[in-house]
Amino acid sequence: MNDKVNVRMCFVCRKNILKEKMLRITKNENGVFIDKTFKAGGRGAYICSKDCFLKAVKTKRFNSLLKCNISEEFLNKLESEFDNA
Ligand SMILES: [Zn+2]
Repeated sequence: MNDKVNVRMCFVCRKNILKEKMLRITKNENGVFIDKTFKAGGRGAYICSKDCFLKAVKTKRFNSLLKCNISEEFLNKLESEFDNA
């Protein structure tokens, strides 16, 4: 039994949380998207909560982590994902 396999670190608060409870943001050659499969290739970041999401937006952590500018549209979409969760 190895429960750690399903745990990932939130890139904002650095807590280890079950990945199913998080959103994975991934960047690959097609751009930035929400990886609902948790399996997409490319650079990814996990976020555990809307609080962490808002903190990341405020401090522009997405841009430095994913090495690109994240569109307002994408951020709005992401925010609504947390609202729906
Ligand atoms: Zn967090």
